[in-house]
Amino acid sequence: MNHFEYKNGHLTAEDVRLGDIAAEIGTPFYAYSTATLSRHYQIFADALRGMNALVCFAVKANSNIAVIRSLARLGAGADVVSGGELTRALKAGVPAAKIIFSGVGKTDEELSLALSIGIKQINVESVPELEAISRIASANGVVAPVALRINPDIDAGTHAKITTGTLENKFGIEWTLAHEVYSRASQMPGIEVKGLAVHIGSQLHDLEPFRKAYERMGDLVAMILKDGLNIETLDLGGGFGIPYGDETAPVPNVEEYAQIVRETLGNLGPGLDIEYIFEPGRMIAGNAGVLVSSVIYVKEGATRNFVIVDAAMNDLIRPTLYGAYHEIVPVDEPGEGVDVIEADVVGPICETGDIFAKAKSMPRPRPGDLLAVRTAGAYGAVQSSTYNTRPLVAEVLVNGDKFHVIRPRLGVEEIISRESIAPWQLTD
Ligand SMILES: *Cc1c(COP(=O)(O)O)cnc(C)c1O
Repeated sequence: MNHFEYKNGHLTAEDVRLGDIAAEIGTPFYAYSTATLSRHYQIFADALRGMNALVCFAVKANSNIAVIRSLARLGAGADVVSGGELTRALKAGVPAAKIIFSGVGKTDEELSLALSIGIKQINVESVPELEAISRIASANGVVAPVALRINPDIDAGTHAKITTGTLENKFGIEWTLAHEVYSRASQMPGIEVKGLAVHIGSQLHDLEPFRKAYERMGDLVAMILKDGLNIETLDLGGGFGIPYGDETAPVPNVEEYAQIVRETLGNLGPGLDIEYIFEPGRMIAGNAGVLVSSVIYVKEGATRNFVIVDAAMNDLIRPTLYGAYHEIVPVDEPGEGVDVIEADVVGPICETGDIFAKAKSMPRPRPGDLLAVRTAGAYGAVQSSTYNTRPLVAEVLVNGDKFHVIRPRLGVEEIISRESIAPWQLTD
């Protein structure tokens, strides 16, 4: 469920008409619903009731500080994958004690930053990284809380570009080696091994890969405990899939997911007090956002029609990058008897891949009409760019009948002003 509904024939975000936002700030823009963000966080947290659980929003899905803050106020932590995201999470008000640092290529600088703020946990993805953390922590006289991210060699059955849990992927420590690395890590100076982490991919529709990965994790826990070592945290990653509107089977619900967690990892031994960490991104932010654009032209051809809109792949790259489907709806509900045409909905960028929908059946739009691309709250604005020297897309947060521009459009002048001509080019 989300809070984008037609009211009196006009698409609204909670109680704000999307057309009113467009009239004030122009298009394209992303609009996020606070109520939907909260609802999704709450559904996830509620499903884990009775467990010692920490839900860390995967900031890479939507890293606007206002979005992070909406979740932080509900008690969410943050899962970050760079020093930049770490800085955002802090700025948004997430306490360091609720921040997890993931990622395969953390630099010395990023690791130092994480250690200096007293981060909750660094999820280590390789032995060289473990050595770097040991060196940096020792040099700074601190102890680094780490978990080993294991690669369970489980195919998540999702898109190849967002599968992370097989041995062909760059992520994590091979699960067959993890046991040995864990005991090695527990001897290293400056390191305190807290536990294990796993994340096998994104947009999972099938829960079985989760089950298999968590079972592998359970096996490892048993081996580690047998060595007399301790486990305090199990980070179970993110990846929970959401409906985009083109599903052939129903998307699983979080209650079923939580049940799998309980079954596989809920009871690992007497006297164990494990904190379970979760890193949902898409599940929280995806349905909480839409991308609103205006129709520039309707180009009707002999074989194909094109609806050319003022948003493009630089604003939302998911269709281009992952072949992702997004539902596109008119902001103003068409009246009775409007013609229906079949058209490709495309942006103005000089790339054939700049396409939002192919052969879409839609009420014939007119130039100036607003269209909303739904389910665009995750992996949308965060991947936006200024390609083709297009202004960087604006973002708006709605709460009830209020809205606020949480990232203004970055204009062409501002974009170009950061560039300069080399001194030797000035004379001629
Ligand atoms: C991307 C990522 C997530 C979030 O994935 P979603 O599919 O958005 O839930 C969580 N953890 C890690 C380590 C990630 O890389």
